[in-house]
Formats: sequence, structure tokens, C-alpha cells
Amino acid sequence: MKAAVLTDNCTLSVEERERPTPSDNEVLVQVKACGVCMTDYHMYHGTFPVSYPLIPGHESAGEIVAVGDAVSDVTVGDRVAINPSIPCNQCGQCINGKENLCENFTSIGGAADRIIDGAFAEYVSVPAGYIEPIGELAFEKAAFAEPLACCLHAIDQVGLNSGDTVVIIGAGPIGLLLVQSFRTNGAGTIIVSEPVDERRYLARDVGADFVVDPGETDLTETIDVLVERVDIAVEAVGLPETIETAQSLPSAGGTTLIFGVPPQDTTVEINPFDIYYDELELVGTFSLTPNSFVRAVTLLQRERIDPAALITDEYALEGLQDAFDQMEDKAGLKKVIYPSDSD
Ligand SMILES: [Zn+2]
Ligand SMILES: [Zn+2]
Repeated sequence: MKAAVLTDNCTLSVEERERPTPSDNEVLVQVKACGVCMTDYHMYHGTFPVSYPLIPGHESAGEIVAVGDAVSDVTVGDRVAINPSIPCNQCGQCINGKENLCENFTSIGGAADRIIDGAFAEYVSVPAGYIEPIGELAFEKAAFAEPLACCLHAIDQVGLNSGDTVVIIGAGPIGLLLVQSFRTNGAGTIIVSEPVDERRYLARDVGADFVVDPGETDLTETIDVLVERVDIAVEAVGLPETIETAQSLPSAGGTTLIFGVPPQDTTVEINPFDIYYDELELVGTFSLTPNSFVRAVTLLQRERIDPAALITDEYALEGLQDAFDQMEDKAGLKKVIYPSDSD
């Protein structure tokens, strides 16, 4: 089979690899669509450390082409989304229901201490418990189940009440999925701050009530004019400056959520008196849980969330390099690879 392989820092090649054979508890999936994510980009650049060679790709969907002897609940021909995040189900975190914080986390092509080959390949082998049937849902939409599950888990973290005012800083693919997720979950007013015109317009299209260009207008002043209070501020960029901005926005009793991935060695300034006196919360969110993945597939299947507008670039496996180059320039939004279309 063909696979896109990271062989070193900033080195990617499409290679012929042996097609995996599923073990007793695994299924073999022919990958029909796999989204490109900032995590892939960081693995490519070495800013997320991985051991090479590695096949990345963790936002995927496809069709089952073989099942292991012990697998009975799915069958060849089933259309499925792949949950790449595999907890051990045995450590203290897993037993406490926090599988996303598992101490022995394995990821199929994504970020984890243990990474196995991912879905930028014609075929990928997956433990049977980590596929979710998608019915007739288009593969390229089903490939959003992973990032959407991360967004749903994030919303679980902040305790959203219906009618709450939410400010989202950053309208990349994740910021835009968060807009849709918060809306579906009952947010009252959604305000998005984003300097790139195309992304700001799309935020409006997918459900933001107000959009702000922070290069043109002062975000805090604009928010003061628009709404009485801010309940939740979400940082979906991953920069210290925008985290400080997000942290300054919630009203007393409000919450700041850090979703963007900040560089590991940065710090931000907070005023502990404000946290104390205003009962502010500062919350993190990491990855997804098996439960949020199942819910993500349902929301996609029922079209509560339609990610199609987020897809700006589509490639065969050979186009992954182009996708990374585009991400370097922040061009376009979601890039989707169709590994089974490679020649
Ligand atoms: Zn991702
Ligand atoms: Zn565990």
C-alpha cells in the first residue's frame, strides 16, 4: 500500500509499505478521507517530538476491508470513523473516567507518548472498539469526528449553560468547529475575534453572532458595547498574548478555556486577586474521550454540525507536502487527504 511517511524533521515521502494485517481484535480500514491537523504539522516540523519513521494522520474515516477473528460487531463493508485515541482502561485516570488523561495513552497517528502508524495511508489497522459506524455520512465529513470530539470534550470542561455568552479567539478550523459546537450546545451569544478576513466571514457563516477584527477594533471595548457579560472565553490560537486577552474577558463567575496549544516553555501573567475576588476559572482541555467521539459522530450524522464549509483544499496522499506548505502560510482552512485516490 501507499503511505505518507515522516522520515525525519521536515522530511516527508510517499512510500510503498506492507499492508497491515489485523490481529484478532483489530479491523483493517481502507482510509477514504483523513484531515490534516496542526498536530501533523508539528510532527512534521519536529516541534512535537516523534520517533521517525512514522505514518501520521489521526482524523480519518473509511471502509472496513478485513476483520480479526475475535471481532463480531462490525463487518467488511461497514463505513466507519476512526477514534485514534486509545486509553489503557486500567490506570487511575481511566478508572476515574478521564481516559483522555490516560497514563499509557496510545494514538493512531496522533499526539501521545506511544504513537502507532496513522491514516495517511491506504490502509490502517484499528482496535475494534475504536471505530464508530457512520451510516451514509460522507467520509470527508466523518473525518471531522476527531476534532469535533475534542470540541465537545472542551465544552464538557466549561459547564456551559444555555443562553451563555461565549467569546472565541481564533477562527481556524478548530475555532470554527467550536462556534458550531457551542451553538448546538445552546450558547446564547457567540462573538469571534479573528484577524484573517476569510476566516472571520466564515465564522459568521457557521453561526457566530458577531465577529471582530482585533487589528481594527479593540476587542474588550467592542464586547462591552455588544453584551452585558461574558460567561466563557475560549482561546483557540495557542499564543501567550491571546491567552492573556482571553483571560481578561470573562465577567465575575466566568471561565477561560485554553484550547489552542501553547509552546511548552511559555508563561503568561495572571492577576490572582481577580481570580479570587471574581471567582474566575481557568480551564484546560486535552484531546477527547470515547464518549465525546460517539457524540461527535451523532452530531455529524444528524447534521447538527456540518463541517463541509471548513474544507478548502483536497489532495491525494502526494499532496500532503503541499498541505503542510499551505499551513506554513496560513493559507486556506481544513485540508483533507484522500489516500485511496493516490495513483
Ligand atoms: Zn487533530
Ligand atoms: Zn489509562
